[in-house]
Amino acid sequence: MTFDLTPEQDQLRDAVRALGRRYGHSYFVEKARAGEHTTELWAEAGRLGYLGVNIPTEYGGGGGGITELAIVCEELAATGCPLLLLVVSPAIAATVLSRHGTEEQRKRHLPGLADGSQKIVFAITEPEAGSNFHRLGTVARRDGDGWLLNGRKCYISGVDEAGHVLVVARTEDSSTGKLKPALFLVPTDAAGLTRSKLDMEIVSPENQFLLYLDDVRVPADALLGESLDAGLPALFAGLNPERITVAAMGAGTGRYAIERASEYTATRKVWGGRSIGSHQGVSHPLAHAAVQVELARLMIQKAATLYDAGRDLEAGVSGNMAKYAAGEAAALAVDTAVQVLGGAGMTTEYGVATLLGAVRAGRIAPVSREMILNFVAQHVLGQQKSY
Ligand SMILES: Cc1cc2nc3c(=O)[nH]c(=O)nc-3n(C[C@H](O)[C@H](O)[C@H](O)COP(=O)(O)OP(=O)(O)OC[C@H]3O[C@@H](n4cnc5c(N)ncnc54)[C@H](O)[C@@H]3O)c2cc1C
Repeated sequence: MTFDLTPEQDQLRDAVRALGRRYGHSYFVEKARAGEHTTELWAEAGRLGYLGVNIPTEYGGGGGGITELAIVCEELAATGCPLLLLVVSPAIAATVLSRHGTEEQRKRHLPGLADGSQKIVFAITEPEAGSNFHRLGTVARRDGDGWLLNGRKCYISGVDEAGHVLVVARTEDSSTGKLKPALFLVPTDAAGLTRSKLDMEIVSPENQFLLYLDDVRVPADALLGESLDAGLPALFAGLNPERITVAAMGAGTGRYAIERASEYTATRKVWGGRSIGSHQGVSHPLAHAAVQVELARLMIQKAATLYDAGRDLEAGVSGNMAKYAAGEAAALAVDTAVQVLGGAGMTTEYGVATLLGAVRAGRIAPVSREMILNFVAQHVLGQQKSY
C-alpha cells in the first residue's frame, strides 16, 4: 500500500496548481458575473495537456487515467477554479468515447477533447424521470438510415460551450421490442435542438440548460458505438469517472475554503494580541472540516486507483462513497469558512461565500446523496430496494 503519487503525478499536481493560481478565484467569479466562460484557462489547460491526461496517446492525450484527471480537477478547484465541465467533457464524454466509441468516433472527437478545442457535454436528466433513469422519455426512432430524436432534458451543463451533446435516449430493440438506452452524439447546432438557459443560484461561469429535442435527425454514425448493444455499458462507463472527478472537485474546493479561512483566522485579532484562530470555537470547526476533506481525498485516491486498475465494480462502491464524502466535506468546509471569516465571509472579496451555491449543488448533482446512500444500503449492506 502506498499513499504517494508517482513523480509524474506530483509534477502534474504542481503544474496544474501553478496554472490555477495564475487565474485564481477572482478570475472565476469575474467571468461568472460577466456571463462569460473561463475560455483562457480552459484553452491554456488544453494546450498544456491537462484536459487530455486520461485520453489514450494515439488520440492526442496523455495516456494516463482517472487518477491523473482527478488531480487536475482537484488542483484547479483548490485554487478557486472548480470547472464543472472537466467532469462532463474529459471525464464522462472522453471515457465513454475511448471505451465504447467506434474507431471513427474516437478519431473524430478525442483529439479535440484532448487539446481543449472541443467540448462534449452530457444529457441524461429529464424533468419527468429525475433520479430514475429507467423512466427516460427521450426516444430515438429509426428514420431511413439515421435516427429521429424527440424528448426533453434538464440541467444540462455547458451546452452553449460545446460542439456536441451526448444524449441518452431510449430506442426500440427490433429483436425484443424492448426499449433500451443508447447514446447519440448530437451536434449542438442540429436542426430541432433548442435550449433555454436556467437561472441557477450558483456563482459559476458554466451554465445549465433545458434542452428540447423536436424531430432532431442524426445520421447512423451518431449512435455511439458499433451497435445498440453499446448503449448500456457506455452509459455505465461514464459513471465512475463522473463520481470520482466531481468528488475531486469537491475536495479541492474544500481545501481552497479551509486555506482561505485559516490564513484569515491566523492573523485576525479582535481580543487583544490573540488571533481568533487561537480560540478553539474557531479553530476546531476548521480542523474538523480539514479532517473530513482529507478523509474524502483518501477515498477518491482509492476509487481512482481501483478504476485505473480495471476493477470497475469495486471502483463503483468507492467512487460513490468518495462522491458522498467529498460532497459533504466541501459543503461543510465552505460553510465553516464563511462562519469563521465573520462578515468578511459574506463579501465577494474574500472569495468563499461565492462557493456556497456550488457546494450545495454538489450534494445533489450529478447523483444526490440520497441515491448514493440507497446504492450503499443495497450493494454494500444487502438491504432491499424500496423503490
Ligand atoms: C449544477 C447542476 C449541474 C447539472 N448538470 C447536469 C448535466 O450536465 N447533465 C445531466 O444530465 N444532468 C445534470 N444535472 C442534473 C442532476 O444530475 C440531477 O439534478 C440529479 O441527478 C437529481 O435529479 P433531480 O434534480 O431530478 O431530482 P429528483 O430525482 O426529483 O429528486 C429530488 C430529491 O428527492 C430525492 N430522492 C429521489 N428519489 C429518491 C429515493 N428513491 N430515495 C431517497 N431519496 C430520493 C433526491 O435525492 C433529491 O434530494 C445537473 C444538476 C445541477 C444542480
